[in-house]
Amino acid sequence: MNPDFKSPGTDLSDYSEDFPSPQLLLQGGGNDILTEAGGNFEQRQEIAENLLGDVEWLTPCMGEVACPGADLHTNAGADRVRVYIDNVPTIHCFHSSCERVLAEANRELRSRTSRSERGRNVPRTAVGLGYLQAKVKNREINEKLYGWNQWFNQVVSKPLHPRFLYENSPTDIDQRLGDDRFLFLRLYNPNDLIWTGEIGDTGRKHFSTAGCLIGEKRLRHHHVSTCTFKPESQRRTTKNVLSRRFLVVESDELSIPQQTALLWALRSEWKLAAVVYSGSKSLHGWFRWSEQWNDPLVQKEIKARLKAYHCDASSLRATQPYRLPGVMRKSTLKMQSLVYYNAYYSYAKI
Ligand SMILES: [Zn+2]
Repeated sequence: MNPDFKSPGTDLSDYSEDFPSPQLLLQGGGNDILTEAGGNFEQRQEIAENLLGDVEWLTPCMGEVACPGADLHTNAGADRVRVYIDNVPTIHCFHSSCERVLAEANRELRSRTSRSERGRNVPRTAVGLGYLQAKVKNREINEKLYGWNQWFNQVVSKPLHPRFLYENSPTDIDQRLGDDRFLFLRLYNPNDLIWTGEIGDTGRKHFSTAGCLIGEKRLRHHHVSTCTFKPESQRRTTKNVLSRRFLVVESDELSIPQQTALLWALRSEWKLAAVVYSGSKSLHGWFRWSEQWNDPLVQKEIKARLKAYHCDASSLRATQPYRLPGVMRKSTLKMQSLVYYNAYYSYAKI
């Protein structure tokens, strides 16, 4: 054995400064403090096995098991890790890529152990990587919430007149001669099969390619989908969604000048393709969909951000329809209109 090796849980005073996390080793040293005569290690073993799957017990209080974050390991091999159930139960893994997931697994292992020893019922289900990653994401969201709130308060404390968007539109829409509906549809790829209609409309006639709608100039509806649909789709349902194209940011709570300030500020981070005035109390910011937003965990974070910004988080739902510019809103007799347009972010260019 390497003479420098110190078994975990022994004197830590010799560890030098550069050893990153001695704290981990203080917990669950595998020192067999629980003994067969002492009692409940069988119960602890069972809890660990329920949580982590098959454990190979090398001593009553220390076993080997597949790392719950093994799929995140960047280096091949060494996916088996040690689990100690004496003292504070702890799973140790030497990979850093699974660190946050493993911290959640440890929280769960400790919580179940402590609950069980206080006579409470504990779940017997295993925790999958997806479950642990969702817990990690929730924790990250909670950590970021304060910063998002601070940022938001600063942004909306300086409201902007919506004319600002119009005057700063990258594509000059002041000079437009055509119809907002067809200019707007040019943001999609001409081959994109999109839905247009009134909210409850279904059937094949409501699904056309953007190119076809522009070419035939036949469009009388008030709403359009932000996503594209699979060929032959007849209903605006999630299972028919082919790909996401835009994320719409809108708020029912903020004033129009506050919404303008928010969309303008978000524009420095996300790709603002268009802003549509709804003909009533809101501006809809159409942001080009980012590939990384396809990850459900990233969507979870965006949803939390939108809520922190007092915006409608239902825009994360792929099938959510939005108001098309270039038609009159019946309830207000005002035009739904384009107030900002960036042709550079059109999917026709890919
Ligand atoms: Zn690991």
